[in-house]
Amino acid sequence: MNQDVRVRFAPSPTGPLHIGGVRTALYNYLYAKKMGGVFVLRIEDTDQTRYIPGAEDYIRESLEWLGLTPQEGPGYGGEYGPYRQSERKELYQKYAQQLVDNGHAYYAFDTPEELEAMREREAAKGFHSAKYDHRVRMNMKNSMSLTTEETKAFLDKGENVTIRLKVPENETVTFNDIVREEVSFETNELDDKVILKKDGMPTYHLANIVDDHLMKISHVIRGEEWLSSTAHHVLLYRFFDWQPPVFTHLPLILKPTGKGKLSKRDGAKFGFPVFPIQWNGDDETYHGFREEGYDPEALLNFLVLLGWNPGNDEEIMDSERMTELFSLDKIIKSGARFDVDKALWFNHQYILVSKPGDLLDPVKNQMVKYLDTLPGDEYLLKVIQLLQSRVHSYDDFFKEGEFFYKAPKSYDEKQVLKRYHPESDTNFNSILDLIDKNQDSSEQMANAVKQFLSDNELKMGVYLPLLRIMMCGSLKGPDLFEIIQLLGYDEVKTRMESALKVFKSY
Ligand code: GLU
Repeated sequence: MNQDVRVRFAPSPTGPLHIGGVRTALYNYLYAKKMGGVFVLRIEDTDQTRYIPGAEDYIRESLEWLGLTPQEGPGYGGEYGPYRQSERKELYQKYAQQLVDNGHAYYAFDTPEELEAMREREAAKGFHSAKYDHRVRMNMKNSMSLTTEETKAFLDKGENVTIRLKVPENETVTFNDIVREEVSFETNELDDKVILKKDGMPTYHLANIVDDHLMKISHVIRGEEWLSSTAHHVLLYRFFDWQPPVFTHLPLILKPTGKGKLSKRDGAKFGFPVFPIQWNGDDETYHGFREEGYDPEALLNFLVLLGWNPGNDEEIMDSERMTELFSLDKIIKSGARFDVDKALWFNHQYILVSKPGDLLDPVKNQMVKYLDTLPGDEYLLKVIQLLQSRVHSYDDFFKEGEFFYKAPKSYDEKQVLKRYHPESDTNFNSILDLIDKNQDSSEQMANAVKQFLSDNELKMGVYLPLLRIMMCGSLKGPDLFEIIQLLGYDEVKTRMESALKVFKSY
């Protein structure tokens, strides 16, 4: 055990958890587990304007479904709480004040209009990304440019009071990242970020650093989009005289085309989920992998390889194996393409090696979406055995085998027309008799029917496909006589009679 290794997953509850966030959670979880450390969940909800009710519960439910249960966090206990940033407001105010007192931050009183006017002035001078920085700060309304009395007057008035970080000039900030090695930023490129907003809430930067320090976080493992913020974070660590954690920035997850970052819209566009579980938003519902019939461990297996590999060809890994092999130094730099076919392939592999009994519950959970009454467990277990090697998701146990639960409503007309003649009806009656007599064994049944066909010089390639179409509606499906045996004589008889009527009408 190495309790000194403490990592955190720090989502903002601004909507459903994107699959990229799930990968971040997974890498944090695996690293903690591997090192015998602690995996913390921290809810970063200081941006009240973007807060979405239900998002925090959604995050917890997703993590639980995936088995990535935090050891500390809101709802999980722990000594370093509260773990919801909105409940730590006063704490951040104290630290912001400390920075002002030490000369590393200053009060700013600019109104939104004044900020806008500054941006326009800067843009007119040709600065595309007009920033509140060392170049402009002395022309703005803040405790650096104003006298002590003026500053006091503004503070007493209490309008538009923010605290900004005073970024030093002409310095190079350097830090180490496990993936990108040495990373440098010029401070002249950095803005004087707001660290405490006028509503008294901290911004992400301040809250994140204060909490990582107070919660004794040893390793920060997060998405690459936060790499540029790290320069400000490193300055904050320096100003507080705190030891920074070890940084690891994970590569982007790219669209299936490989061009650009995977977005939440891509799910609908390419027809696959990009969220772990379903999200019912006010104006939109997003599909989840859970509802589409994915095994959570197969999904993790797929995700773990988006941005990391064990250094050999090993692909199928359950969570034990993932933990054993996982290491931060094998995380790759380049973006990882999201390929949903690969996710399905992993799911297929997991279903393939599962015990049919273990699949019963997840399959039933999917089945209730499609059927009012579910077949009995014994029947369903046999269906699972027959379909297990053919399906890619729990959903497929319905989609690929609908005929196990309902008689076909339509038949593959083209295939029927190629083969069917009304005079074959008597032969089908004989086949039905053979089915009746050999109900105990699908193999015997198959042999008897095939023997009958060859004795009477009837074509297998005509009768067997027609028999399948009668039972299944099309030529697809597992072994025909296994299906027939499972359906049972009465059902087979009914299906044959209905089908023959329709075949005649073609
Ligand atoms: N709240 C940030 C997010 O939503 C956390 C980033 C970090 O891990 O530092 O991703």
